[in-house]
Amino acid sequence: MCLILQLLPSRTSDRLLQPFWDYMLLNHRLLISSPFFPVLLAFSSYFFFSIPFAALDLLGARVPLFHQYKIQPDRQPTVGMMAKSFMTALYNHIFFVLPTVIIGMFILPTPTLPQDAPTLYQVFIEGLAVLLLFDTQYYIWHFIHHKHPQLYRWIHATHHEYMAPFSWSTEQLSIPELMTVGFWSNQDPIDLKCHPLTTWCVTVFSIWMSVEDHIGYDLPWTLNHLVPFGLLGGAPAHDMHHQKPNSNYAPFFSHWDRIFGTAVPLKKKTLRE
Ligand SMILES: [Zn+2]
Ligand SMILES: [Zn+2]
Repeated sequence: MCLILQLLPSRTSDRLLQPFWDYMLLNHRLLISSPFFPVLLAFSSYFFFSIPFAALDLLGARVPLFHQYKIQPDRQPTVGMMAKSFMTALYNHIFFVLPTVIIGMFILPTPTLPQDAPTLYQVFIEGLAVLLLFDTQYYIWHFIHHKHPQLYRWIHATHHEYMAPFSWSTEQLSIPELMTVGFWSNQDPIDLKCHPLTTWCVTVFSIWMSVEDHIGYDLPWTLNHLVPFGLLGGAPAHDMHHQKPNSNYAPFFSHWDRIFGTAVPLKKKTLRE
């Protein structure tokens, strides 16, 4: 009886996301309750979000509509560079992230999925809290790893192989860096008691923001232009970080760099310079 009640969609909820959540619980419970699901979601987001920008890189100056926005037009990624970044991310996920998830299955409690969907307001507020917390953690980590030569050399330098980032280079990370950001991405929503649906939304959204940081184009419709007051750094700020590594340490927002005086505006290059 209890099991039947659990499987029945909640009919009393007036939440907009309830029909979607009921559908997921009824039809995809096995998938969404799997400990591999967050990794699958994260890696496929990185993969699919990177593809259109990789196409722009390959087309290059043949599509002036987009190429006019390239931040460093004198530095075009090659297919070899793209393949190296993607293979590094794939290798790290297969040989380090997946085994960590398998170990976690034995030592961590199995999370339960609630019957109620979150409200849209809850997704927004919880999601924003997770992003602000992660942004703060990474700002501190990033600052330390640029100031300490050994930490930089052994842990963060992998990500700085290229002065001009491109979409696939988003996850060209050393294993310790990937495991650190992976730990926060997993733990922060748990500490903030987020609904699983919020957690997955934040996963996808934060990977979109990370890819945008690395696209190498200052496109006028990216989030940093859509969100007012320059609250988000986006590609201009992070591209500048790859050009001038002692600047713009925050991954998403701009407030910590402004407060601590590490914000440096982008100086866009042109081919004639
Ligand atoms: Zn970067
Ligand atoms: Zn850095």
